[in-house]
Amino acid sequence: MSLIERDKKHVWHPFTQHHTAGNPLAIVKGEGIYLIDETGKKYIDANSSWWVNTHGHGHPHLGKALQDQFEALDHVIFAGVTHPKAVELSERLVAHLPSSFQKVFFSDNGSTAVEVALKMAFQFFFNRNENRDRILAMHGAYHGDTFGAMSVGQRDLFNKPFEPFFFDVDYLDFPAKEREAEVLRRAETVLSTHQFAALIVEPLIQGAAGMQMYSVEFLDQLTIIAKRYGTLVIFDEVMTGFGRTGKMFAMDYCTEKPDIVALSKGLTAGILPMGVTVTSEDLFQSFLSDETARGFLHGHSYTGNPLACAIGCASLDLFDQQETWRAIQELSSWNHDFREELEAREDVENVRQSGTILAFDVILPEGSSYFSTLRDRAYAYFVEHGVLMRPLGNVIFINPPYSISKEEHAALKNVILAFLDQLD
Ligand code: PMP
Repeated sequence: MSLIERDKKHVWHPFTQHHTAGNPLAIVKGEGIYLIDETGKKYIDANSSWWVNTHGHGHPHLGKALQDQFEALDHVIFAGVTHPKAVELSERLVAHLPSSFQKVFFSDNGSTAVEVALKMAFQFFFNRNENRDRILAMHGAYHGDTFGAMSVGQRDLFNKPFEPFFFDVDYLDFPAKEREAEVLRRAETVLSTHQFAALIVEPLIQGAAGMQMYSVEFLDQLTIIAKRYGTLVIFDEVMTGFGRTGKMFAMDYCTEKPDIVALSKGLTAGILPMGVTVTSEDLFQSFLSDETARGFLHGHSYTGNPLACAIGCASLDLFDQQETWRAIQELSSWNHDFREELEAREDVENVRQSGTILAFDVILPEGSSYFSTLRDRAYAYFVEHGVLMRPLGNVIFINPPYSISKEEHAALKNVILAFLDQLD
């Protein structure tokens, strides 16, 4: 039996309608920006394997860190125990964040990092006997697939079966440039009720909504309003963290900083699953009490996994090197040039870029069924032409590993342009 036949027998894939989905790609090797299938065909990993891979596949420095850590300590319970790499990673993460961030809570992925952030916010007010039981979020948001994370995300077909079980959330409209003032006014009205434990946003870019970008000025104003009414501000930097936007974190563009940040994806360079939720000393202090139940009684079996922590530290070694930032800058500038080329075309619109991320909408005849099939057609075309890329509806976007070369970026660009040309 082939690998694909064996897969079909027992494997249930994420975000997949198995009745209509084609065969999965059988990838057996990763090398730099390439994924290689069973037949030896190479694919450019144009979306960094669900936006996680930062330094390319099979990076020797990360491989060595993993091997060294395995020989020292593979895993250990993290309640009542610590280990060197969790401490080192915490120290190094807070050094990269604004100085108000002091305490690092480990979990397993982006959803749990968000879940932890929400639970911390609710319990912060519970511990103070303050009745704040609402969350303010943004339309179009995606924060993950656990119940809390789904509750604060966009309500749509993806989570319809679960909607009756979500907690109450108020939503702000997406702050398109011409609507910023209106959205801020609504935020003021809602938050001034003093019922909100937290505001949660994907800072500057809504990823799963189709890499929708909004302004730093808006986000600064929103953060100011939330803080004015004592609402905790959570930035979900699961997608934007670790260089994606051209800076280490999206919040580095902002004057106003959040109270809590959720990180994952690039945290471990796309090698092992891990999430962290980082917050202030003050918030941490509010959980201290003689009563056990006032502590944050949350954890996962793999919390603080030493292998993942070692990879996190090794990835930060690479971020400490000028070379990595030069690569991010170069990738951003090639994206910028490609953006200009796309802006000159008539078959695409809303060309947008933030550092290593470039996105645009393919213009489709209004109301035609073409819309729904574009994603599948694009995916199939790209796979055939050696690019693994998952468009979001009619949004095509690239966010490759930072190690991509100029020639490889040009090759990726040419496949995208050829796809657009054959659509005409
Ligand atoms: N938050 C954001 C902004 C994300 O983009 C994602 C994943 N795409 C998540 C949370 C959830 O992360 P995970 O898939 O690791 O649970």
